[in-house]
Amino acid sequence: MEQKKRVLSGIQPTGDMHFGNYFGAVKNWVELQEKYDCVYTVVDYHAMTMPYNPKKLRENTWDLIFNLLSTGIRAENLCIQSLVPEHAELCWILNCFTSYGLLTRMTQFKDKSAQSAEDSGDGFISAGLFGYPVLQAADILIYRADYVPIGKDQEQHLELTRNIAQRFNNQVGKEYFILPEPLFTKVLKVRSTADPERKMSKSLGEKHYINVFGEEARIRKQVRSAVTDTGDTPAGEMSPGVENLFLLLEAAGKMDTHKELMATYQAGELKYVDLKDAVADALVEISTAFRERKAELNANKKEVKNQIKAASAEIRKRAQETVREVKELTGLQNVRF
Ligand code: ADP
Repeated sequence: MEQKKRVLSGIQPTGDMHFGNYFGAVKNWVELQEKYDCVYTVVDYHAMTMPYNPKKLRENTWDLIFNLLSTGIRAENLCIQSLVPEHAELCWILNCFTSYGLLTRMTQFKDKSAQSAEDSGDGFISAGLFGYPVLQAADILIYRADYVPIGKDQEQHLELTRNIAQRFNNQVGKEYFILPEPLFTKVLKVRSTADPERKMSKSLGEKHYINVFGEEARIRKQVRSAVTDTGDTPAGEMSPGVENLFLLLEAAGKMDTHKELMATYQAGELKYVDLKDAVADALVEISTAFRERKAELNANKKEVKNQIKAASAEIRKRAQETVREVKELTGLQNVRF
């Protein structure tokens, strides 16, 4: 039997999971499990690169684990990054194979450093934030991943990962690391219902994202108050707000309703309230199923946590093997105590 190709992806434990995260990333991860050998990691080391609260970090890490399990990510494919400390060890080694010049050209650092300076209250920007893409490279290379599901915004980081792997291979004289390829699946961008000019995101504040695990009443309220027409869309064009509601309907798999309402829209007869009700129903249906699943998992909290710790230990074995081989290749001491 042909071995399945390996997929790696990480997600930061930075708070609520919104429908942008779900439709834009997590739903796809769930589906990839059918075809690939997947490792999904909750990247708590990455979450330290911005100003943060230690107690919250630990809470958010487990909350995200429970959320991911509720959406259909399998426990055996899931680990917590800091339970596999080899990520940090490989990151150090890879730092020494990373071009400083290339690192200074990462565009995400520019955005995030401005955010960090603001959030910290004293202009602080950590060196960890600067080195973030190297840790990301370690996350990918440590599992010898073939594919990384990414959006366009992560393309530069994956290119850097390939560059680091290539340099490493050249320096040690062996094609050791696999050069990972991007997996551009459905690139779906969900917009904020409160401001459809912007992407749904936690960093914009609570009214700009719809929490997948939120209360039904809140989901309905947010969808009902979605901005549809601001009056500045050229005649004959669909406004971003309406487009976003149609996209949510499609992403939620409600194709029949989508078709029906689209025909009504094209006939110039659509009542926005009907579209909003359909979207709200679709999102609530998803949310309700996930919340029920999460309640079940929470009823067995201890066992679920143990399962994830065991999965992390199992996944860690692959990481340890890579680090042992890397130490061998790079002239470091490689003794098993
Ligand atoms: P946030 O912007 O809310 O902090 P993250 O940056 O942590 O979200 O993103 C986590 C994952 O969710 C990434 O894979 C990202 O591409 C995806 N994602 C985030 N927001 C959206 C969105 N509005 N539409 C589609 N995908 C999104």
